[in-house]
Amino acid sequence: MRDRIRLAVPNKGRLVEPTLGLLHDAGLVFEESDRNLVARVQNYALDILFVRTNDVIEFVGDGVADLGITGEDLLSEAGAELPVVRRLGYGRCRLAAAVSSDAPYQAVEDLAGLRVATSHPETSRRYFAERRIPVDVIAISGAVEVAPRLGLAEAIVDLVSTGSTLAMNGLRPIGDVLASEAILVANPAAVRDRAAALTEIDTMLAAVIAARDKKYLMMNAPQARLAELQGLLPGLESPSVIPLAHAGMIAIHSVVDADAVWGLLPRLKAAGASGILVLPIEKLVS
Ligand code: AMP
Repeated sequence: MRDRIRLAVPNKGRLVEPTLGLLHDAGLVFEESDRNLVARVQNYALDILFVRTNDVIEFVGDGVADLGITGEDLLSEAGAELPVVRRLGYGRCRLAAAVSSDAPYQAVEDLAGLRVATSHPETSRRYFAERRIPVDVIAISGAVEVAPRLGLAEAIVDLVSTGSTLAMNGLRPIGDVLASEAILVANPAAVRDRAAALTEIDTMLAAVIAARDKKYLMMNAPQARLAELQGLLPGLESPSVIPLAHAGMIAIHSVVDADAVWGLLPRLKAAGASGILVLPIEKLVS
């Protein structure tokens, strides 16, 4: 058995940057100068294989890689039954059915007997078959959004994040086929034979993801205002309260949602807090 775990990640496209960000935030040190190659992580027994996003499932399925990072939509499209170890919280999008803005179709049921162009033919076929809507799925590999305009199909199934590309192409969504985000998938044999190593990697990535939307708050306050301040700080657990050398004063430490910090700062100040520090959290395991 190989002594180093192999992780397949995309070498091109929109998942590259957030994936590399996640691996670097996890503390892994590696060269990414040539993404066609295998990068050897210098401070951990891991090799990173840079492959096409569409090929990640194949590499993991075949056991060439033990773990892989790719889009949920691509796992669905490959029809592979690989264990999803974790959802990674980025690369969020949905696979949506859409039609020309001026077309009469309002719901996916209205597409019965029509043509649907998509680069996700397997997922689309399953979706329409499950709903017993007979459509002609036309598989194309790119520029899906122009298919209705070109007369290739009456509808499309395509990836959408904000919806602005659909709107720009004169299209209107009429139904969601699949919600997707980046996922960590594993080879089933690796899950069985290398459970400890895989858990170590997953725990580290999960800790980075969990830390991303949290902040560490530190502040000083009069002891007499503790109850009031505690009421403002739901925290991960109850806040830490530390006596200060100055009589009657305490320090309070707490983990809070990053989005809540805006609203919290003036209220903490009004409740007597001073010297408030907001610190990033590198990793969080709760
Ligand atoms: P790409 O390699 O750039 O074509 O995209 C690869 C993956 O990025 C897709 O399979 C999706 O999982 C994910 N993705 C996230 N948001 C979008 C989006 N708005 N459009 C296309 N792909 C997206």
